[in-house]
Amino acid sequence: MSTPAANLKINSSRLWDSLMEMAKIGPGIAGGNNRQTLTDEDAEGRELFQKWCDKENLEMGVDKMGTMFARREGTDPNALPVYVGSHLDTQPTGGKYDGVLGVLGGLEIIRTLNELDIKTKHPIVVVNFTNEEGTRFAQKGCSRKNVWRRNQAHRMDW
Ligand SMILES: [Zn+2]
Repeated sequence: MSTPAANLKINSSRLWDSLMEMAKIGPGIAGGNNRQTLTDEDAEGRELFQKWCDKENLEMGVDKMGTMFARREGTDPNALPVYVGSHLDTQPTGGKYDGVLGVLGGLEIIRTLNELDIKTKHPIVVVNFTNEEGTRFAQKGCSRKNVWRRNQAHRMDW
């Protein structure tokens, strides 16, 4: 196990491979992606993310807006989670990285911590927001701000 001050490195080729595997789902124009929110392609991307999260023994929760929360427990049951993530769905002419890097970068952090058997005090939650860009459905109601606001109002579903 590394000391707390050690400068940890992720596995950049593993992250790259995951980005390229996700990019095979919903190919778009000019090498980009068309994996719009709540389409079959988005579902396929979500399934792949779920599969990768299962492999890392993360607990998956999904709220009423379809936001995915993949949680790695910390050592302190009272510590608040640290969130990292973005969105796996894309705009109609989306790229391979917008959003996807935020989610899969978060997953890579967890893969690295698991590989090195490093426990964290706080839980880490990788989040995949639904319709964050708001291109398929009006942005209101699906933005990050509203996920947090609504979850506070209804308490967390996960
Ligand atoms: Zn984005």
